[in-house]
Amino acid sequence: MPTGVVLKGIGGSPGVAVGSALVVGDTRTAYARRHLATTQIEGEIERLRRAVEDAKRHLREVSARLPAGPVETNAILDAYLTMVGDPLLIERVTRKIRDERKCAEWAVAQASEEIAKLFAPADANERDAYIAERRHDVEFVCDRLLRELAGDVKQIVPRLDQPVIVIARDLSPADTAGMVREPVIGFVTEIGTRTSHTAIMARALEIPAVVGVADALSVVRTGDTLVVDGLRGEVVVNPSDIMIEEARGRGARHLAFARGLLTARNQPCVTRDGEPVSLKANVELPAEAILALDHGADGIGLYRTEFIYIDRRTMPTEDEQYELYRAVVEAVAPRPVTLRTFDIGGDKFASSFQLPAEMNPALGLRAVRLALSRPDVFLTHLRAMLRASVHGDVRIMVPMVASVQELREVRRLLGRAMNEVDAAGHGRAKHIPLGMMIEVPSAVVMADVLAREAEFFSIGTNDLIQYTLAIDRGNRSLAPLASPFHPAILRMIRQVTRAASMHAVPVALCGAMASDPLAAVLLLGLGLRELSMEAAAIPEIKEAIRRVTMADCERAAEAALALDTAEAVEELVAGAFAPSLFDLLTGTEEGSYGEELAAPRESLQTIPDH
Ligand code: PEP
Ligand code: MG
Repeated sequence: MPTGVVLKGIGGSPGVAVGSALVVGDTRTAYARRHLATTQIEGEIERLRRAVEDAKRHLREVSARLPAGPVETNAILDAYLTMVGDPLLIERVTRKIRDERKCAEWAVAQASEEIAKLFAPADANERDAYIAERRHDVEFVCDRLLRELAGDVKQIVPRLDQPVIVIARDLSPADTAGMVREPVIGFVTEIGTRTSHTAIMARALEIPAVVGVADALSVVRTGDTLVVDGLRGEVVVNPSDIMIEEARGRGARHLAFARGLLTARNQPCVTRDGEPVSLKANVELPAEAILALDHGADGIGLYRTEFIYIDRRTMPTEDEQYELYRAVVEAVAPRPVTLRTFDIGGDKFASSFQLPAEMNPALGLRAVRLALSRPDVFLTHLRAMLRASVHGDVRIMVPMVASVQELREVRRLLGRAMNEVDAAGHGRAKHIPLGMMIEVPSAVVMADVLAREAEFFSIGTNDLIQYTLAIDRGNRSLAPLASPFHPAILRMIRQVTRAASMHAVPVALCGAMASDPLAAVLLLGLGLRELSMEAAAIPEIKEAIRRVTMADCERAAEAALALDTAEAVEELVAGAFAPSLFDLLTGTEEGSYGEELAAPRESLQTIPDH
């Protein structure tokens, strides 16, 4: 591999990391969790049998290629060979296929987890290393099987015991969250866009990331030195010393810049002409509530509770959910917390709901539709939220509402959940506002009608753009077309803020659009006074708002609404505001306006170069 090969992607999370690559096969995350029809079970067991045979054959081949060397190496491979065919493992996997009707990949991944858990940490210290080794062996063998099932035998997943940059085809939100505990300093994925959940999570964790890098896995090898530049949306493979030095400099400047913004986090969020704006945080994990306060959030504008249901087999109980919500509510009290009812389905992984595969998951049984189809699960969820309301200012928000009946049905179930909470003798706030996300075009069109029944709105542009422009939010190559500056999106936002103000319904916006400085000031002009975004973006957006006047924002919005393309809108907004916001747009204090604009803007519009 020549030095300094530059791969283009999309800046998923700002910052610059320099380090050694770890190519992670996506075996445990990227398979589809399929339930089998009865007629498919025998075929799946045969697939598993073949995978076992292939895994053994490949291990034998590796063993034969090894130079006559350390005896231990061969002994380890022999042990793996035995483990791959271990009847206990195979029997456990087969049971899952036959009894639980899980596809072979899913069954192997679960069996791996279960067996690894049997090696629970012992209290005696000297046993810990041995046990960790055995657990790793089980994971290695199961990864091997998964790779055979996927038809990919090239990669091996080592353990993370030194700082690395993780390269993967895709990472589930749970994997990304798991990185907080691992020494991961950056990551790169082949799949994804700025609004895909991997990127959202990386920003929340403040790990530099570049997503949507086509062919990353075929170019990068474990051990390659990489620069991950989340500001520019690019990855440099085996950079020269000068490139490394420059990247480190850029990273340090970004950090200094971000730190500088952070010190101003408690300044009031008002425009230069004195209009106050409220900035809240989007959170996925309870631990992020503290991060939100650290970044100067006025509260939590979106708590994505679906993360509680992800990557597990059993439903979370009412008490378990209550404790989590309570922790968040107490952490930010007296500031408000908007708990969004689970948005499972679509691009959101879930394993406690055993959802059937769908042709178009984004248009399928997702969010409120799923909730209403499982009233038992939904009532448990609502009761936990209601109980948490006794500890602070709680609001409940419903995702993906497409018609007023859905909201009415949720309100009816909420009434029932209240009675159940009261009957069980638990406390709750007397009134808990029930609001909804506006993220489906029909909700925009019906905003005036919905405003009579919803107590607040929050516009979800990630999905609104997907459904309005008919562009999959996770599609890397179409990402440049999914522009929040599209005039259709601006008109829709305007329509919603008008309907909301006519009916005196509070309206916020919580899509990733809010965390782009140029888009944020345009949103003020379109009538928004509350924005919710990942905590890390709050200081920067506050600074942007403090530098502009509402009069300028409104003028720009009026002019933008009269334009016909996203490009024309972005050009207009950049012309009006980039000179005063260029440092915020590029993430460092250096450079000049003209020079920086020549570089692609990472935040929204980086076009993958292939
Ligand atoms: C959105 O769709 O804009 C949103 C904030 O919700 P999510 O990203 O969780 O779908
Ligand atoms: Mg959404």
